[in-house]
Amino acid sequence: MINLETMPPRYPKNGTFELTLRCNLHCKMCMFRREDCENTTLLQDEMTTQQWVDMARQVAEAGTISLLITGGEPMLRKDFCEIYRGIYEQGFIITLYTNATMVTEKVMQTLRECPPHRIGITLYGANNDSYNKVCGMANGFDKAIEGINQLRTLPSAIEYRMTLIKDNIGDLDAICQLVEGFGGTVTNPLFVFAPVRGGCMPVQECRLCAKDSVNTMINRSVSKIEEMIPDSLKSKVRIKLKEPTFECHSSEPKMTLLGCSAGMDSYTITYDGKLIGCQTLGVFSTDAVKDGFSVAWEKYPFQVRLPEEPEECTVCESKNFCKACPAVRMAECGSLDGVPKYICDFSMALKKKVVG
Ligand code: SF4
Ligand code: SF4
Repeated sequence: MINLETMPPRYPKNGTFELTLRCNLHCKMCMFRREDCENTTLLQDEMTTQQWVDMARQVAEAGTISLLITGGEPMLRKDFCEIYRGIYEQGFIITLYTNATMVTEKVMQTLRECPPHRIGITLYGANNDSYNKVCGMANGFDKAIEGINQLRTLPSAIEYRMTLIKDNIGDLDAICQLVEGFGGTVTNPLFVFAPVRGGCMPVQECRLCAKDSVNTMINRSVSKIEEMIPDSLKSKVRIKLKEPTFECHSSEPKMTLLGCSAGMDSYTITYDGKLIGCQTLGVFSTDAVKDGFSVAWEKYPFQVRLPEEPEECTVCESKNFCKACPAVRMAECGSLDGVPKYICDFSMALKKKVVG
């Protein structure tokens, strides 16, 4: 149980501004995409340019140091440049997430004058066919490469990410090669989880089975290490996989709100002005527009009510390999104390791979 009196101090140093939930791509595995993305509902609820700039001023005053600007696709907003510049002028360490398909000259002009510290670019395939299959955009790959080539002219650090599903798993090597050509490496999430916050995409149908997901992750990591071992030592070196250190299932009293840093030193402001702990868990929220950021931040812990961990998890032999946090349980099971079958399969496969 959460004990607010013994909980360590909270400090809002890392923020996420979700400028919009809308996106120009229609990815099958999108956690956030909603049925009303195409109509005006989401647009009407979005915070205005001035509200975002004012929110940036408030969070800077409250002590936020680093800010992630994300979406949806943030560049889809017509006022992206105005919002971005207004945020930038507050002096944060800024990371910008984008799919790189909407990089116009106006955007580049703004980013040249106000370069982010880091840009996270998500790739969805190694050719237009894959982009069409995964995101429903026939020239998506060409547009992304065009955008990347522009963004690479900035002094910002660039990280490349890829979400692997059945439709693009065959592109993994080609994407890695492409990104190596840019001087970078590709990271991908441990697993794809079910839609959150009203999302409606058929993630369960398109994601890899848990076992394939684990095998891809481990094989990639091992081959990366093998590449670094000189030929003369290859026969002598044995790669040993290390047990992960997930902390979601500690039996100790919870020292944080959600078992992680969400709501403790990080937060998200959603497109419609709610303050939530992390972008993937919307069930606990306060109103950062109505109350102002500082009040919303102070009120947040009083919203969080976590049930006890399910009995099945407390006795589970794979729990050290399991990453079933409250957001994952909510997404996969629709409740905070559900036992997410896909994650159980993933954890078991991971345990088998690491300790046999
Ligand atoms: S693997 Fe499944 S049963 Fe085990 S701790 Fe995780 S969610 Fe619970
Ligand atoms: S996804 Fe889970 S572990 Fe990650 S920040 Fe959200 S609640 Fe915490």
